[in-house]
Amino acid sequence: MPTTYTDLIADVRKQTKEVSLDELKRRLETKEPMVLLDVREKEEYRAGFIPGAISVPRGFLEIQIEQRVPDKNAHVVAYCAGGTRSALAAATLQSLGYTHVETANPGFVRWKDLGYPMEPPQLTDSQRDRYSRHILLPEVGEVGQAKLLKSKVLLLGAGGLGSPAALYLAAAGVGTLGIVDADVVDASNLQRQILHATSRVGMPKVESAAIALKDLNPDVKVVPHQERMTSANVERLFEAYDLVVDGTDNFPTRYLVNDASVFLGKPVVHGSIFRFDGQVTTFVPDKAAKKLGINGGVGGPCYRCLYPEPPPPHLAPSCQEAGVLGILCGIIGTLQATEAIKLLLGKGEPLVGRLMTYDSLKMQFRGLRLRRDPACIVCGPKPTITTYIDYEGFCAIG
Ligand SMILES: [Zn+2]
Repeated sequence: MPTTYTDLIADVRKQTKEVSLDELKRRLETKEPMVLLDVREKEEYRAGFIPGAISVPRGFLEIQIEQRVPDKNAHVVAYCAGGTRSALAAATLQSLGYTHVETANPGFVRWKDLGYPMEPPQLTDSQRDRYSRHILLPEVGEVGQAKLLKSKVLLLGAGGLGSPAALYLAAAGVGTLGIVDADVVDASNLQRQILHATSRVGMPKVESAAIALKDLNPDVKVVPHQERMTSANVERLFEAYDLVVDGTDNFPTRYLVNDASVFLGKPVVHGSIFRFDGQVTTFVPDKAAKKLGINGGVGGPCYRCLYPEPPPPHLAPSCQEAGVLGILCGIIGTLQATEAIKLLLGKGEPLVGRLMTYDSLKMQFRGLRLRRDPACIVCGPKPTITTYIDYEGFCAIG
């Protein structure tokens, strides 16, 4: 039995497998599968850490580890500043039943001195405070929150669906929000378009949106695009963004958005509403699936897989006369924002190849499978549509 601290550490070190920093660096470079566990205090982790490391301070190890690392056969490499705390942590993990535990020797202080790669501090103190409820979620954490802050989302429309989506994305700390809308705020919008306000009637919607969003969260850069989307500007608008939240419910835009999504490899979260019903789906083309690692790199159907061409104008629903339950926009727009956040974080199962429908009168959600058309005219192997088409003659609601 060890009798002193020195004996205890010597004993623990004998029982745990050690990894040199050079070997750890090599494994990182070759992307060997492992769980890199930083057992230092939160403050030390926040000042910088080894890329990919998850933070579980030693004092919380027993309480948190099974939630953070459920697989007891995972290959775990623990590190601390100098190698002592991580050796103790490794011993604890072994006693909890983890079978492949190693400890880095010496530790982060030396790693940093050697100039090996490290993640710089992620968030400021005020951001840690603002996003604390996100940071507490292991699926988000500081790394996920920093990812959101670096993300760029383009919102098509600052109307019924764009309003709640923009508010929640801004609140969540999505760092850049581009908003495309050519309209001005009208009193009849305010029944559902909660981004705007009575005092801003007559103001361009993109300006009104920027005021509301900046007031909600000054971390967010709002980029106003006061223009209608056409074949001439769609690529310029899409280019700078990671994903698109589409809340414009008209056929010409829907097809432009779809084709740009396929051509440029941008995911699109699509939402639409009609009277008491709404629906949401997420289009992820192959290129985007590969980039984001969704669905094993295989994309889902595109809009043209389902509806290759728009209906003739005289058969399209006349939206001028269609009413919409205002609060329905809140549900659908918020579902769209949820999908966007999941895609940006790379967590959960997006609505790829699935359509979620919502009937507010029956209070019923349904999920429908959407199939990819192997001979699709835009996302298939032999596309016949390779440039943008401006369809005419449809109205817009939102
Ligand atoms: Zn398709």
